[in-house]
Amino acid sequence: MFQKILVANRGEIALRVICACKELGISTVAVYSEADRNSLHVRFADEAVCIGPARSSESYLNIPQVISAAEITNVDAIHPGYGFLSENANFAKVCEASEITFIGPTPEIIEMMGDKDRARREVRAAGLVTVPGSDGIIQGEEGLAASAAKIGYPLILKASAGGGGRGMRIVRRVEDLLAAFQAASSEAYQAFGNPDMYAEKFIEHPRHIEYQVLGDQHGHIIHLGERECSIQRRHQKLVEESPSPAIDAKQRKDLGAKVVKALSKIGYTNAGTVEFLMDEDGSIYFIEMNTRIQVEHPVTELVTGVDLIKAQIRIAAGEHLQDATGEIHFSGHAIECRINAEDPETFVPSAGRITTFQAPGGTGVRVDSAAHADAVIPPYYDSMIAKLIVKGRDRGEAIGRMKRALEMFVIEGIRTSIPLHRRILADPDFAAGRFDTHFIDRLLGTNGK
Ligand code: ADP
Repeated sequence: MFQKILVANRGEIALRVICACKELGISTVAVYSEADRNSLHVRFADEAVCIGPARSSESYLNIPQVISAAEITNVDAIHPGYGFLSENANFAKVCEASEITFIGPTPEIIEMMGDKDRARREVRAAGLVTVPGSDGIIQGEEGLAASAAKIGYPLILKASAGGGGRGMRIVRRVEDLLAAFQAASSEAYQAFGNPDMYAEKFIEHPRHIEYQVLGDQHGHIIHLGERECSIQRRHQKLVEESPSPAIDAKQRKDLGAKVVKALSKIGYTNAGTVEFLMDEDGSIYFIEMNTRIQVEHPVTELVTGVDLIKAQIRIAAGEHLQDATGEIHFSGHAIECRINAEDPETFVPSAGRITTFQAPGGTGVRVDSAAHADAVIPPYYDSMIAKLIVKGRDRGEAIGRMKRALEMFVIEGIRTSIPLHRRILADPDFAAGRFDTHFIDRLLGTNGK
């Protein structure tokens, strides 16, 4: 097992990884930008190294700085969390070259799945069904016209190097196609350094359903059930739950078996998430794979009893899957609300000093957060400041618990998405499990009180 791990991240996920390391008896090294000097991840790590100014490109994304911090402190491994360098194949390669274990899949797999068009082809070859779309990257105007003719309208143009809900354009009419393509491609080039685009049929009312997987280095792979992540704003998740109210036990088992078979063929290791869209007639299509721990991993932890971060670390250290996870029993229902520092209706970020931070507790309630009273939320990073997660014996109990936990969560000094979460949880369609990825638009549009 590792003696010391560097956590190449900030905020709640850095703290979450530090918790797992402490429980495993592993020392930790935090890295931080000048804006995060007083953060909890710095306070709770055994050692901490400043890696640069506030801007992520000069600190959390700065590979030479992170590697130097790892070398100075003599760590055995690096946990990248999510975002930042977590899906950077080059970073995983540099770690390998520096004889530091990267806690995640191999650089080859990260590269394969990071190219979303290639990922579609690879998983198709391994037996999964993808959304009908272009044959590979769209080549020029002729290729664009041919793809659109094949797919039909509406379609969605997607950046092959895209992520985080960015780099996508919906096209409903042939006359908008070329301009949308050119704009999206140049945006993709600016955001991701890669203009490559592919196209998919746009599914009008999809549900987003994803499978958590874990694979060890000895050829074993399992899934830990699915998560329902349809409650989104701007293609970004706001509420997640497990299990999904939209699929039954047989579907869960059948799709899970297909996922495991496909990833065994690909030779996947460590934690990952396979994302699908389900259309109105219940057909399920692969959209992408994330080769890292997800923000929403706690809902899976609560229904399986597996500590996914510990499992990642143990697998990276060479342990067998069954030792890393123990026996798995699915039970109950878990829901997570991502509490963002933003206006609950316009989604405009709200940085600043938190004056009051009173987190709820009690049976079945978990709060993953690095925020606290008097903390300053800097404007430079992601706006998520806390994850409120609850577990109940069934979905009804989980909803009731989440409602009271949201009521008792008091954050003052900045604006947060808590009022929006309260409305979501109080909505009869949410309670009935009747929703798709446009739920929030409808909620804000039809009764935008
Ligand atoms: P990212 O990598 O940026 O997260 P994804 O490919 O995972 O992008 O898609 C994010 C979200 O965008 C999905 O959860 C869904 O809401 C929407 N979306 C993506 N592809 C489609 C599609 N073909 N039809 C309808 N909605 C889509």
